[in-house]
Amino acid sequence: MKAMKAKFTEVKQPKITLTFPGTKGEIEEESQLHKYHTSMILSTPQASILFDYGLKHNPSLDKKINEFDAIFITHSHPDHYIWTVKEPDKKISVPVYLTSVTYDYSIRKPDNYVIIETGSIYTVKDIKVQAFEVIHSLRCPAVCYRISCGKKLLYSPDIVDIKGGKDNVLDGLDLLIADGSSLNVNMVRNKDGQLFGHAMIKTIVNWCKKYSIPKLIITHAGKQIVSISYEEAEKKIIEYAGQELDFTIAYDGMSITVF
Ligand SMILES: [Zn+2]
Ligand SMILES: [Zn+2]
Repeated sequence: MKAMKAKFTEVKQPKITLTFPGTKGEIEEESQLHKYHTSMILSTPQASILFDYGLKHNPSLDKKINEFDAIFITHSHPDHYIWTVKEPDKKISVPVYLTSVTYDYSIRKPDNYVIIETGSIYTVKDIKVQAFEVIHSLRCPAVCYRISCGKKLLYSPDIVDIKGGKDNVLDGLDLLIADGSSLNVNMVRNKDGQLFGHAMIKTIVNWCKKYSIPKLIITHAGKQIVSISYEEAEKKIIEYAGQELDFTIAYDGMSITVF
């Protein structure tokens, strides 16, 4: 009798792919690598979600915009939310998740929208998404999204800090995707005791160290990153992070399987 080969069921981590159609912040400058406004596509075996859909989005998004299971918007600045300025060229039928402040600030409104509460969990097939308020803008209050899909990710393209404190939000993360507006130039402003603006990458790297977050993706490139080469920017971040942190600077069109 032919010996049977023992079969083991290999338990594989579900594939999580991140694609960055655009990686630029609200700046005039652009480069070959950072031309379109920041957005991110999260794809799992069951679902795909688009995070942010700004005015100057990558035109490749228009063709597939209704193929996503959902769109989540962080805030109503035009580099994240097209409806602040105009109606998208194409009719968007997929649900657009956003806070009531973002919805109220928009001039045009998405047809199919879901008003979210911070702290509540929203389930899109095999992805769970939870919004937390961040310090970023006084006029257009922003949230970041903590995403659970086998691994724990945080998408926070515009951030000074997390409003209720970082512990609950950053603890246990496998990957942080955060603000590249500034490498080391202070972009935090203060109006009547209220902070707004952007944290430096230098600061964000320290969050990764403090909360033992093993991976970091920088997106939402600002003037500093746009004006230097990829290698120069990388060198700077290694200066802040050391060799321990596994980091990537996202560029337009970058697609990586993160887990
Ligand atoms: Zn922005
Ligand atoms: Zn913003």
